[in-house]
Amino acid sequence: MTDLTRKTATELAQSLRAGDFTSTEVTRAHLDRIESVEPTINAFITTTADAALATAADVDRKRAAGEDLHPYAGVPIALKDLVVTQGIRTTAASKMLENWVPPYDATVYQKVQEAGLPLLGKTNLDEFAMGATTEHSAFGNTTNPWDTTRSPGGSSGGAAASVAAFEAPLSVGTDTGGSIRQPAAFNGLVGVKPTYGSVSRYGIIAMASSLDQVGPLARTVEDAAALHQILAGHDRHDSTSLTDEVPDFTAAAHAGAQEGLKGKKLGVIRQLQGEGWDVGVIARFNEALELAQKAGAEIVEVDIPSIGYAVEAYYLIMPSEVSSNLARYDGMRYGLRVEPSEGPVTAETVMAATRAAGFGKEVKRRILLGTYALSAGYYDAYYGSAQKVRTLVQRDFAAAFDKVDVLVSPTSPTTALPFGVEDDADPMALYMGDIATIPANLAGIPGMSLPSGLSDGLPTGLQLLAPAREDARLYTVGGAFEAELNGHLGGPILDQIPQL
Ligand code: GLN
Repeated sequence: MTDLTRKTATELAQSLRAGDFTSTEVTRAHLDRIESVEPTINAFITTTADAALATAADVDRKRAAGEDLHPYAGVPIALKDLVVTQGIRTTAASKMLENWVPPYDATVYQKVQEAGLPLLGKTNLDEFAMGATTEHSAFGNTTNPWDTTRSPGGSSGGAAASVAAFEAPLSVGTDTGGSIRQPAAFNGLVGVKPTYGSVSRYGIIAMASSLDQVGPLARTVEDAAALHQILAGHDRHDSTSLTDEVPDFTAAAHAGAQEGLKGKKLGVIRQLQGEGWDVGVIARFNEALELAQKAGAEIVEVDIPSIGYAVEAYYLIMPSEVSSNLARYDGMRYGLRVEPSEGPVTAETVMAATRAAGFGKEVKRRILLGTYALSAGYYDAYYGSAQKVRTLVQRDFAAAFDKVDVLVSPTSPTTALPFGVEDDADPMALYMGDIATIPANLAGIPGMSLPSGLSDGLPTGLQLLAPAREDARLYTVGGAFEAELNGHLGGPILDQIPQL
């Protein structure tokens, strides 16, 4: 039998509809793959084989009975372990929630269940999504399937590695400053951060509420579009949820692949290149631009001057929200509870002991930073100034989108980094690695990373950014770019991943 784990989600969906094989067979193939590669990859914190097979059997039964099913019903999926799942342990990769079994479902998980996608498991991440390497997990590192001495990126490192290692055809991640797009780039995948408010955050363990978005990771633009379609839509449980109709992303991806890049105006962000950017990353980026130009796209240079302050503003706004959101882990309500080893047991001492034991180093660093930035006397100078920069970033993007259809840049200045960088490096240096992705979160606009070829055997990513609520445009242009790049590179780069 052909290896079912090598097929894209769309191929699987088509074959399932045609009756070539059952969802039970597809799900089993992925569970077998998980069993064989997890000792090396560690993409999952929890696997849910029984639940997956139960959903698969249910879909198979309904299909046999001729019931109306979602077009992707029966295609398995993995969820970042920040998505709350009723009855299934949800940890945020933190000791704080090591044994937490949620009493309710996140809206996105409810949608995934309604569509009939069997859940394979919950994937690894940096604790509470804070990090860029998945090394800040209380459950061990995830490795990059392209080179297992390297990190898969983060924070959705497990979500990305699971799809690149053929453990899951689709996965759901979250992106607060790049955590879908950067690991997508480092694993040779397509990853999308939707417009802020267009996918429900209800039941997503909060990192920084004004920046967090949920989105798809997949092997093709079409697969990402199909998953995005399932996830998006208004939710009355999320006060920031947009009421817009969900556009047909799959149709947009198809139209793009057909129409190509002719006549599209692409804006190259001048601030996202130059010193500090890997030579190979820039080379692949310039080749993509040349291809686009040959295909009839118009390339213009644009300035987003406020990008020069974006990372600094993010590292004030994000920790401020983190310090407030993580106040709920107090040892009283749910999650870990640790009593002090000596002295009186009071609310305060339990809280202190619980938080000292439950949070890792990076989470503590950000809580301290945020608490400081919000304290009386510093609030205006730090948080207030950062909010002003945020407004400037939004204005700069709005002005740029008056001139072009989409903005383009490399997704990250580097390819996947070796392990240990988080320990040795100055945290600021690592934080700067997110310079290309953070601005979109500050502005609330959608972004996509798609594979743009290899540099020294490691994947690079091409980032596309569109105006808020124009996520469909990412799929049109992304579909066109993917077709061009596959033609140029001789097929999807994932075909070149070393065997595990
Ligand atoms: N790497 C960034 C950070 O550490 C982004 C994280 C994210 O998007 N969740 O904050």
